[in-house]
Amino acid sequence: TAVVPRRALISVSDKTGLVDLGRALAERGVELLSTGGSAASLRDAGLEVRDVSDVTGFPEMMDGRVKTLHPRVHGGLLALRDEPSHRAAMEEHGIGAIDLLVVNLYPFEATVASGADEATCIENIDIGGPAMIRAGAKNHDWTTVIVDPEDYDALLAELAAHDGGTTLPFRQRQAAIAYGRTAAYDAAVATWMARYEDTPRRVAAAARLSQPLRYGENPHQDAAFYVDGSGRPGVATATQHQGKALSYNNINDTDAAFELVADLPPMSVAIIKHANPCGVATGETFAQAYCRAYDCDRTSAFGGIVALNGILDEATARAITEIFTEVVIAPGATDAARAVFAAKKNLRLLTTGTLPDPRMPRRAMRQVAGGWLAQDMDVGHVDPAEISVVTKRAPTDDQMRDLMFAWTVAKHVKSNAIVYAKDGATVGIGAGQMSRLDSSRIAARKALDVAEVLGLPHSAAQGSVVASDAFFPFADGLMAAAEAGARAVIQPGGSMRDDDVIRAADEAGLAMVFTSMRHFRH
Ligand code: 5GP
Repeated sequence: TAVVPRRALISVSDKTGLVDLGRALAERGVELLSTGGSAASLRDAGLEVRDVSDVTGFPEMMDGRVKTLHPRVHGGLLALRDEPSHRAAMEEHGIGAIDLLVVNLYPFEATVASGADEATCIENIDIGGPAMIRAGAKNHDWTTVIVDPEDYDALLAELAAHDGGTTLPFRQRQAAIAYGRTAAYDAAVATWMARYEDTPRRVAAAARLSQPLRYGENPHQDAAFYVDGSGRPGVATATQHQGKALSYNNINDTDAAFELVADLPPMSVAIIKHANPCGVATGETFAQAYCRAYDCDRTSAFGGIVALNGILDEATARAITEIFTEVVIAPGATDAARAVFAAKKNLRLLTTGTLPDPRMPRRAMRQVAGGWLAQDMDVGHVDPAEISVVTKRAPTDDQMRDLMFAWTVAKHVKSNAIVYAKDGATVGIGAGQMSRLDSSRIAARKALDVAEVLGLPHSAAQGSVVASDAFFPFADGLMAAAEAGARAVIQPGGSMRDDDVIRAADEAGLAMVFTSMRHFRH
């Protein structure tokens, strides 16, 4: 199955290793065809090269937009050498076979990353290169395609091992790499063009492999981390200062933690376990906020992920190191805080420079069997002016502040979400239950645990407020909250039984507000 290349077309933007490759091919008697810049480099090194323009009979034109787009090139790449009609077409039109294609593309991604202007980015969209790569890779029965200078050595080793030819498995492998490259390239172009049309219908994911992961959610699952090039501050772009590499679950949880604190008032801290917050608080200082977040669920906080929405200071670092924590993420950290962490070798510290904008429109994608679901990320924010009081009692100003805090936290809790909060700290969180009543009960029970930890004579939910991510379908969930001690409620409203729920709230003396916005999170 070895195919011995007699003619190679070389057209590369990244000239790394070009001359060595050209020389090795020439020594094997391979004829070299090449485009302008590549041909010049090869000739400078004293190699004999034929210009592609000589083959096509057309000069390279329109600033290089049209160089290799010609039947003499594409016919040479695509012809089936053992198919009589293809041979006849080659003969009739003077098309010579091209058995080896070495192409790397205009550096579109690097041009975008350099902050170049729009016209420069567009000029760096390679047209002829991907066309040739796709043609040669389709015809891998006959054509060898190399798209990465990293693979030149492998090509030369392959030729050396097979009497100057390439085997079918080698060509198949390189064809797969080639299509992977053109797919990623077009994905990068599509992502950049989202500036013109950015909706969930644009499902192209411009993913670049950031790092292979040791394993996925479980040790028997292989995994990798891809970045989308958006540059959003967060776990994908953070600097890691210490500790071993992040795991799949660490990355998922760290993302949830940082996106949550970015949504909260300054001086807020969140502790995350299994992508759900187990404690969240805003304080006078980060150390105070951390301790109050920790008090919400000291058991779950063990081995958690901590996010701050400001600079990590020494006192907070000391408080965090009192228990085992997996990851801490913050926009920055003082030298003193870093010195405290340095003694904890297993603790990872990530800094991001800035906070992500919680209102910036973004897309979310999720895989289902046989397809993808794409949607706008939930960046919905309720303007306090749009909130309507539906009970006889209205919340006090303090309660209103806590209601907004609890509502924001609830948005970041898996549904069904129930969040009790008091004085800018969560005191009970019910997450991920199949019924809202169960989430209410769990949150209320957690508030009893908090009371025990703090030595309170009553539930920590006493005098609190409660947020529900979606409407209460029946009065029972609301009654559970009232019994736990909540005095004010925030929820979207919109249930068929809103009247029953409002009546129950009035009878219990609660203040209740409707947001008209739901925050399911699954
Ligand atoms: P050179 O430096 O050899 O002049 O140009 C090499 C680059 O041109 C490669 O990155 C190759 O992908 C690209 N290229 C080859 N043919 C065409 C074409 O017809 N149109 C465009 N836009 N780029 C091409």
